[in-house]
Amino acid sequence: MLFDVHAHYDDERFDEDRDILLSSMHAHNVGHIINIGCDIPSSEASIALAEKYPFVYAAVGFHPHEAANIKEGDYDIIAKMAQHNKVVAIGEIGLDYYYGKDTMDVQQKVFREQIELAKSVDLPFQVHNRDSTRDCLMILKEAKMGDRRGMMHCFSESKETAREMLNLGMKISIGGIVTFKNNVKTVEVVKYVPIEDIMIETDCPYLAPVPYRGKRNSSVYIHAVAEKIAELKGMDTEEVIYITEKNAKDFYDIKD
Ligand SMILES: [Zn+2]
Repeated sequence: MLFDVHAHYDDERFDEDRDILLSSMHAHNVGHIINIGCDIPSSEASIALAEKYPFVYAAVGFHPHEAANIKEGDYDIIAKMAQHNKVVAIGEIGLDYYYGKDTMDVQQKVFREQIELAKSVDLPFQVHNRDSTRDCLMILKEAKMGDRRGMMHCFSESKETAREMLNLGMKISIGGIVTFKNNVKTVEVVKYVPIEDIMIETDCPYLAPVPYRGKRNSSVYIHAVAEKIAELKGMDTEEVIYITEKNAKDFYDIKD
């Protein structure tokens, strides 16, 4: 079944129908979802969703937008949350120079600290990277990640960057943008990256794939991402679904 490795069901855009929607996932062939934290409240909300739904798992951590707001003791709270049996990753962590040009220094510091946090709690991590690829690669290289590595969420960089990420042991997660018209870059990335290194995601409620573009996104639409990858790689959609699910279960150490 489909495995959505990056979703935000705690977002207020799901307030009206969150339970109905999540209860319908099985019927839409969605077998697993990881809900992502961006700060302490959304990390708590991710754990609450994971406790309520057997097929939902949680990631906890600070989005780069929150880097400047971190207070003393916050990492201890995240480290404690990471002990929960349904927390499978630290994230989303990383850099965003598109919105955060004025906080570049503190973002880099917080990114490094959270990679160390992920290592200390022995979990993989999910990376957000926007307009910050060079520094992102530098920090990942310096981090000496060992066996505990990361996944690039909603990968939108070039094939060359994908190659560098793979060399560092990173995984590539593909979202709805691969279906967008004129997105030559992500099409090239999908053709280049071995299917064993690819996972799929929605980043919902954002970035709905074609033909749902512009609507509120949800995991119900993730089949469109699997179909596009199948088309680009000359594979069956079922095979793409099976392999990306296996990749995610192995990477996040999910047994069921
Ligand atoms: Zn996200």
